[in-house]
Amino acid sequence: MTIELDFTHDPSRRSFVDAANDPTSDFPIQNLPLGVFLRGVERHVGIAIGDRIFDVTAAAGLFDGPVATAVSTGSLNAFMAMGRPAARALRQRASELLVRESELRSQVEPHLVSRHDATMLLPATIGDYTDFYASVHHATNVGSMFRPDAPLLPNYKWVPIGYHGRASSIVPSGTPIRRPSGQTKEEQRPAPQFGPSKRLDYELEVGCFVAGRNALGETLPIDDADDRIFGLCLLNDWSARDIQAWEYQPLGPFLAKNFATSVSPWVVTLDALAPFRAPLAPRAEGDPQPLPYLDAAGDRAAGGFDVTLEVAICSRRMRESDMPPWVVSRGSLLDVYWSFAQMLAHHASGGCNLEPGDLIGSGTVSGAAKDSRGCMLELTWRGSEPISLLSGEQRRFLEDFDEVILRGWCEREGYARIGFGECVGEVLPAT
Ligand code: CA
Repeated sequence: MTIELDFTHDPSRRSFVDAANDPTSDFPIQNLPLGVFLRGVERHVGIAIGDRIFDVTAAAGLFDGPVATAVSTGSLNAFMAMGRPAARALRQRASELLVRESELRSQVEPHLVSRHDATMLLPATIGDYTDFYASVHHATNVGSMFRPDAPLLPNYKWVPIGYHGRASSIVPSGTPIRRPSGQTKEEQRPAPQFGPSKRLDYELEVGCFVAGRNALGETLPIDDADDRIFGLCLLNDWSARDIQAWEYQPLGPFLAKNFATSVSPWVVTLDALAPFRAPLAPRAEGDPQPLPYLDAAGDRAAGGFDVTLEVAICSRRMRESDMPPWVVSRGSLLDVYWSFAQMLAHHASGGCNLEPGDLIGSGTVSGAAKDSRGCMLELTWRGSEPISLLSGEQRRFLEDFDEVILRGWCEREGYARIGFGECVGEVLPAT
């Protein structure tokens, strides 16, 4: 595990893109996250800087050969395959090009486009998607609704629990989400029925894009796992709770989750996140220590990411009244029980090959406090304690035309604040 700070992290560094120097911007020159956007009819790789996108594909000539070749594909997969050193080289070069004193400003400026007018695409072609269950608070809350006497199953504190998700229905932020229909069974009825979900929910998660590859049959030692994390994004694992409750036993979620997963378009690289590494929240006294294949000194010291995460909801009535989205919860990524390095090492421990561009979800990020619960199932306790929005409307679960907005950012004394942007999706009525 290597965490290196360099000139790109200097908090006094400024860009000639004025909006990047606003201290509230998610995208100062210390961040430089990567994404893919439409330029005409072509896919281009870009870097977010203030209110602009630096079109790296169009400006490939300003970068070194291997990096230029990788970004010219208009996808991040080839770049992710090169591993983290290539990402560091790109980031350092971009920082030199975008700095206020840049000698190449006149060659960079023609490749800056408006971020607000851009159509963002998925950052990578995602071959496989796995969703973990890394928050012990989430697992305990959800478990206690179904098994009050034994909320946490005995494996939880030993195994990073996960399931293989569906890659084809992952969509970029801004894509509307159609309310799914499915089989549900009400307790008092003898048979299930088929129809629109009445208990549609979001899940606040962080996504992790995989860098490099291990061949089929090879494992990933925990000491090397951090270097296989390309970067992080926000992820909303939309969930139909009534479909889930009927179908999940014995093999876990299926149609309750495979209708859509939203991700934010900008991948914040591990180098940008270096100043915000920290140990995870300590395990409770008496909890087992991780087995040796999940335990490393570096991971114990700095396996976590100090990212503040929040969820806001904006109903159609609120939008029509020009009300801002209403924040319903706020938590921290440090509250998870397993680090991404542990999740990756575990994922590959039986010989599963992890490929560049694969996506790993953290699982719902919930903290101990009630206002840090990362989904409505927990916030409203299965709908029994509705929450109020700014408009006075009440919610037990999501209604049609509700917009869900995930946000995330990092702040630490002595460093520039960086953010993830937003991951947004509006619920459309079932067909
Ligand atoms: Ca999930």
